[in-house]
Amino acid sequence: MSATRASGRSTEVDAVIVGAGPNGLAAAVTLARAGLSVRVFERADRVGGGSSSRELTLPGFVHDVCSAVHPLAFESRFFREFELARRVEFFTPDVSFAHPLDGGAAAIAYRDLERTREGLGSDGAAYAALMGPLAARSGHVADLTGNSLLRVPTSPVTALAFAAATLEQGTPAWNARFRGDAAPALLTGAAAHTSLPLPSLASAGAGLALTAYAHARGWPIPRGGSQAIADAMLDDIRAHGGTVETGVEITSLAQLPRARVTLLDLTPRALVALAGPRLPERYRRALANFRYGNASAKVDFALSEPVPWTHPELRRAGTLHLGGSRAEITASENEVANGRLSGLPYVLASQPSIFDDTRAPEGMHTLWTYTHVPAGSTADRAEAVIRQIERFAPGFRDTIVGMSSWTAADLQRHNPNYPGGDIAAGTPDLFQLVRRPVLSTDPWRTPLPGVYLASASVTPGPGVHGLGGWLAARSALRHEFGIEAWPDLSLGA
Ligand SMILES: Cc1cc2nc3c(=O)[nH]c(=O)nc-3n(C[C@H](O)[C@H](O)[C@H](O)COP(=O)(O)OP(=O)(O)OC[C@H]3O[C@@H](n4cnc5c(N)ncnc54)[C@H](O)[C@@H]3O)c2cc1C
Repeated sequence: MSATRASGRSTEVDAVIVGAGPNGLAAAVTLARAGLSVRVFERADRVGGGSSSRELTLPGFVHDVCSAVHPLAFESRFFREFELARRVEFFTPDVSFAHPLDGGAAAIAYRDLERTREGLGSDGAAYAALMGPLAARSGHVADLTGNSLLRVPTSPVTALAFAAATLEQGTPAWNARFRGDAAPALLTGAAAHTSLPLPSLASAGAGLALTAYAHARGWPIPRGGSQAIADAMLDDIRAHGGTVETGVEITSLAQLPRARVTLLDLTPRALVALAGPRLPERYRRALANFRYGNASAKVDFALSEPVPWTHPELRRAGTLHLGGSRAEITASENEVANGRLSGLPYVLASQPSIFDDTRAPEGMHTLWTYTHVPAGSTADRAEAVIRQIERFAPGFRDTIVGMSSWTAADLQRHNPNYPGGDIAAGTPDLFQLVRRPVLSTDPWRTPLPGVYLASASVTPGPGVHGLGGWLAARSALRHEFGIEAWPDLSLGA
């Protein structure tokens, strides 16, 4: 991709944003809503970053390029204020996520916790006792995990319940309350999203939060694909006078028009490259210590028919976690954490076309999958993913009519915010959730006057929630414009 020079230095604007991923767009929405003039520069040919959709396999098959499933679309404080659910049509499956096990069995996380409890047999009550208090307070869980962990929590009761559950599920005591395989597997499938060693506190915390959302507002899928979320923010930016230029790669801060504030939806590594010697040495060293983590490899399928899952409930699931028992997933994820490929890897899958008929030609389907690999891996994981699906859906291979397979190295080429293919834009372990990317109650603000970091590399971390951008924008409004009131983001009547 060739770098294009952004408009001349003489252009005056209140705010410049580099990167139009969900966080960059959320920052632009917030600043435009505060009445500022806003210009956004995006390297790709359309906005969205990790929230974009394209025909990756065959004409007529729309695939989510990165994110596909959006628990945070309903739970994120930014999206709640933006009223995303009124702007984008979502399908919210009854089966939030499903976890097949050998022998045709499966653990199912229904939106309905009671139904989930019933399905988990003798471990149902223990599972419900763990998840019930968190699901009942899912909004508080989202507020707790969706901001700096150095803040005083708004709901101490939720914070205590969340901490107790995390301590249990993030340590070797994680099996203590269970007797069977199904409930532990269900929880491990969600915790493994983090691509951290298992068990660990950060993976447990993330998994418990995601599972709480699964039993509360659900794990929604946007009609038309994740691009719809980005496009809703783009429409709002334009409606409030902002401009967005795509196909413009920023390689130096000097390339940008003069602005009172600059918000970067970029990694700390990119900030160091863009700022050059302007960055104070101490801060540069702190950013150099920011660690990027394990990577992902992504495989998308065009299918002649739905996946022939053995267990019938799997055919109604929005999301599936493949990899077998807790012990098996732990072993395969820890292989990756030790720098090796797993023979039978943990696979995340989503089947949006089961709910959304805009994704594929009539009668045909798409399947979105990815799996974890060591950083920078150039391994094509298509065959390993197909084998793992075949384990729970014999005959799957025969339904494939088209395929796109991206290695971790391809992911980084696609988007430099995923260094080495790290889709979290920085290891989301406990240390780096507190210190993201530096230890500060205002981690979005950099020592460069008017320059803010607003990406998933900053608090609160990865996911399509817009919170990094929204919190960075609010910090910029306070420090650079003296605006303390949060701009109204709602659609209005
Ligand atoms: C395979 C995959 C699956 C995922 N699944 C999910 C999921 O199901 N649910 C979920 O919530 N999250 C998921 N995520 C994570 C989620 O997509 C990211 O955490 C989120 O997109 C981060 O948003 P962001 O705005 O910080 O960065 P990004 O979305 O990465 O956006 C950064 C933007 O900046 C642009 N950019 C980078 N450098 C420059 C430059 N120098 N000049 C101009 N523009 C630049 C990029 O092109 C990009 O558009 C997934 C990610 C991947 C890759």
